[in-house]
Amino acid sequence: MSVGGGGNESESSATSSSKSSDTVPPFTEIQIIEVNRNNFSKIWPYLLVCIKSADFTAMDLELSGLGGPGLRSKDVQERYKSIREAAHTRSILSVGITTMKLIRKSEKRRSLRYETRIFNILTLSEKPFTIEPSALQFLAKHSFDFNRLIQSGVQFQGKNCPLRTLFHEFLGSSATLCLHNGFVDLAFLYKQMYDVDLPETLDEFVNNLSDLFPDDFLPIADSKYLAEYQTRYKSSYLEYVFRRTQGDNEIERQARRYHIEIDFSINENLSKSLKEATEIVDVRLPEGFPDHAIPIDLHIHVCKNFAYHGFCHARNTPKGCKMLHEVDAAIDLQRIKENKKAFKRKRRYNNVIAESVAEKTGTDEEAWNQAKFQKNLLTRDYREQKRNVLTGLHRAGVDAFMTAFAVVYQQRRTLMTDDSVDLKYLNRVPLSAKDQPLHIRRRMIPPKTTTDSEAVDGHSEAMKEINKQREYVKKNAVESIVKAVEVKSIEETVVVEVKEDEDSE
Ligand SMILES: [Zn+2]
Repeated sequence: MSVGGGGNESESSATSSSKSSDTVPPFTEIQIIEVNRNNFSKIWPYLLVCIKSADFTAMDLELSGLGGPGLRSKDVQERYKSIREAAHTRSILSVGITTMKLIRKSEKRRSLRYETRIFNILTLSEKPFTIEPSALQFLAKHSFDFNRLIQSGVQFQGKNCPLRTLFHEFLGSSATLCLHNGFVDLAFLYKQMYDVDLPETLDEFVNNLSDLFPDDFLPIADSKYLAEYQTRYKSSYLEYVFRRTQGDNEIERQARRYHIEIDFSINENLSKSLKEATEIVDVRLPEGFPDHAIPIDLHIHVCKNFAYHGFCHARNTPKGCKMLHEVDAAIDLQRIKENKKAFKRKRRYNNVIAESVAEKTGTDEEAWNQAKFQKNLLTRDYREQKRNVLTGLHRAGVDAFMTAFAVVYQQRRTLMTDDSVDLKYLNRVPLSAKDQPLHIRRRMIPPKTTTDSEAVDGHSEAMKEINKQREYVKKNAVESIVKAVEVKSIEETVVVEVKEDEDSE
């Protein structure tokens, strides 16, 4: 930032808040705030404020297991039964939350800037629960610290359950809720945070979800669905989608097209406990991106299973797999493939990378190839370079951030023009090995024949309170718009007529 003449330079830059600066450098690290039993009372109010004021929220759950093979059944009803069983017996080990609030929108600079916060809540169930060996192996491999969870996990369930309070805070916010491959997450959120038993059938579950997440109040945007159905990336596992959108965003920024800016700057007045709870995770792109050197023999070393699916079963066999399991390498290869196609189609290909390649090298494929591949760089040297590996105790927080960023980036054009996510992509979560997503909207089902007249429908009871809360939020939002317009009209001495939207309910 520039400093006005005559002022004390160091003081001016230290006191300038990032909100006043015209540019925010591309993010190279993310800040995660851990919420645990010891700092809970201090950080909790701040977390609730962040949720309340966010335009986007994202959630990711670390679970003690996913249940049996029914999860992969061809029949979606069977899948639901299996997930339902898991959600009633397994537990949430940590909850990752990201909040993103739009603080600056500039058509001139083609950017949307979001103030971003990431929280990772360690949670320890008070009730006994099942933990699966495969989940233990997975968590241990990613350096999950079980001692820490047991010693400092926030205990939940019972009366005044904090996760229940948290979920109701989400339900009272009209933000867009981002999930990645959200079917399983939704079932666990419903049972363990909403604290209502899952209905017996998928139809009922979808209907209840459509009450909780209506299109016009707290709709769901699924980053995996967007990657598969909107952007049509070659792979759609979370780490791939995040690194790909992060890189594409940087290419867009350099080309002065629509892009996202992430602002982590913490207000100076924030408490010491918040700073102490913050962990920093390095997420920088390769040095020199997108013109970074790529080994000439990379394509023969990258494991295709990993590149496409995000995992490689052969790694867990005694024989192992000696190929490279590295998401950035997989993305580099994919970009090269797309660029080759782009050259063949001579710039008609509607693709972020293709456009920028064409801008830099015209349509001379050979010139581009020479610039891109380094004849002297081999994969064996590349393996030695320092790589970012996202592991550790705060994985759920990292995953929630990756999810939110991927949604906002993929929807940036609509956010720029309409201030909202494109309705045709909302409330749809992908179903693996199915052509159609699960669409969260009301389904026609025969009325329930209740055998036990005493049975209380937990969902209907809870919705009464939630709808009251939502009416209140909507009323306040309309009032604040009216106030803003009144102030403006007084300032401009013009009369503005304010029309309130008809209530659709
Ligand atoms: Zn492999």
